[in-house]
Amino acid sequence: MAISRTCIKLEPGKVGMTSLDIPSPGPGQALVRTRLSTICGSDLHIVDDIPALPAGTPLGHEAVAEVVDAGEGVTGFRQGDRVVPSCLFGCGLCARCLEGDLQICERFGAPMNLLFGAQGEYFLVPNAEINMAKVPDALDDEAALFATDIMSTACGAIEAANLRYGDRVAVFAQGPVGLCVTAAARARGAGLVIAVEGIPARAAMAKRLGADLVLAPEEAVEKILDLTGHKGVDVAVEALGKQSTLESAARVTRLGGVISSVGVYSLHPTVDLPTDGSFIHRRLVTTLCPTGADRLRRMMDVVRYGKVDLTPLFTHSMKLAAAPEAYDLFRSRRDGVIKIALRP
Ligand SMILES: [Zn+2]
Ligand SMILES: [Zn+2]
Repeated sequence: MAISRTCIKLEPGKVGMTSLDIPSPGPGQALVRTRLSTICGSDLHIVDDIPALPAGTPLGHEAVAEVVDAGEGVTGFRQGDRVVPSCLFGCGLCARCLEGDLQICERFGAPMNLLFGAQGEYFLVPNAEINMAKVPDALDDEAALFATDIMSTACGAIEAANLRYGDRVAVFAQGPVGLCVTAAARARGAGLVIAVEGIPARAAMAKRLGADLVLAPEEAVEKILDLTGHKGVDVAVEALGKQSTLESAARVTRLGGVISSVGVYSLHPTVDLPTDGSFIHRRLVTTLCPTGADRLRRMMDVVRYGKVDLTPLFTHSMKLAAAPEAYDLFRSRRDGVIKIALRP
């Protein structure tokens, strides 16, 4: 039987390459061959923290791929189509899916409805008709990839905050998602965009993607309050998933403003919010990556028509077979790494 070299979880904190049989697609599924994949901060959570996903779990949920075979009922795709699958999939029939929130599908059980195996040569896309989209010829793989997760997540954080033209925004942490939030805030018409980041390469990238200024985490709260006449920003986005950044975001949000939380808090059974006058009459919103075929289409249009270019986020390129080394690099945050392009 043909095999797919795939990166899997070996034990908590450790990944490795293994050979998996290439599956045949069942009803509704598409079998795809990976063209470009990458590692996400969520992968580190899966490898380190989530006991429900045991050793042997195939990793990866962000990829651009090519359709190899389609199961019964998949009519919208042909062999050879270049596609991007959603990182979280929906059934299309439950109440949440019918409202367009496929990512919180009641039937497939969010957030365990994650795509698995995209850090392999081949993988299956469940319910492909509604969870996958063709990539327009105008977009190369690098330009299309972020539609599946971090771009959609970031745009979702800005949409959930109802950001208006001219709003002042502070984005706490400029990892891959935070950088996409900075770009999304700029594209959506924000006035002042303040990025908060201590790693020089990430601070530089934040400027490149549209931040007006970048502040170090230790000075950020005081400086943002100074800059805004001690009123605070209209929207503060937390994009790290740490107590300290959530707290800082709450402290710099103006009365009536929005704290938009997009970090993954899986390491924290609880989080605290400051109550010293800074958490009265603010709106706190959270976002889980909006997904589905139409969401993918819209994200790719944003890129295709030049509103954002996220390809600079690919700071490194490696072979898919070297995924374990890529995990080490990604985890270390060394060498200016933001996203690593993995190709078979
Ligand atoms: Zn991801
Ligand atoms: Zn559903």
